Amino acid sequence: MQLDLMKRWGASHAVVFWGGRSSNESVAEAASTFPDQLIPFASISPERTAYRPAWIASDDTLLNQLGALLATGQFKGIGEISAVHFPSAGFDETDFSPLSPMVTGIMELARKHRVPVMLHVESTRMAELSQLLERYPDVPVIWAHGGYTPLFLARRMLERHPNLYYELSARTWPHHPRSPDYTILRDGQQVWPEWLSLIEAMPHRFMVGTDASNRSASADAMKFASVQNFLAQLSPAAREQVGSETLLKLVGVRP
Ligand SMILES: [Zn+2]
Repeated sequence: MQLDLMKRWGASHAVVFWGGRSSNESVAEAASTFPDQLIPFASISPERTAYRPAWIASDDTLLNQLGALLATGQFKGIGEISAVHFPSAGFDETDFSPLSPMVTGIMELARKHRVPVMLHVESTRMAELSQLLERYPDVPVIWAHGGYTPLFLARRMLERHPNLYYELSARTWPHHPRSPDYTILRDGQQVWPEWLSLIEAMPHRFMVGTDASNRSASADAMKFASVQNFLAQLSPAAREQVGSETLLKLVGVRP
């Protein structure tokens, strides 16, 4: 289904990581079958019931498992790691500090294996995220959904932290189920001009995303359509950068 959607909506590559019905192993297997399209990330995110006790106990065993996955060379990044995630349907809230041993352990592994880390951290812990970014200036962090921050905080974080990348999944949807202010669209269609200005000013710091898939065909079609609607409003150069180049450079597909 994912490959069909990519073909239908013109996506040449996709970062993939596990969801409710997959695992690091099944993701790696799918990516080895379709190496030119799928870019696998390894995750030990705490929303998985099996991983959460290790997060609560700061148990190194789980970090060692992640290290072993990265040592295979199959994975091009780490994530999505939902360290701080508000509750939503089928998802118990997580609230682990970005400076906790599990997150810093993940950053150490990213540094060692030279891969980016995709972090979901809500704005409630943005100050700690800032400290983490300063502590690991050589590790690229893809901020999932840009932490759902408003425009001013998006600009401030990007200006302060050169290793931060703002990912736009779920921000281009006409409506977000958790909060009406999460979308960057002003009317379900047009992107706010202020957001367009910021993205056009630093397109190498932004990337698109679809968010979780495989829930229903209509929901997935809405997600892909929303990305294309957003990209159509950018200048050609920014469209190329935000639509693919920012990500492909981070994961080593582009030099
Ligand atoms: Zn997320």
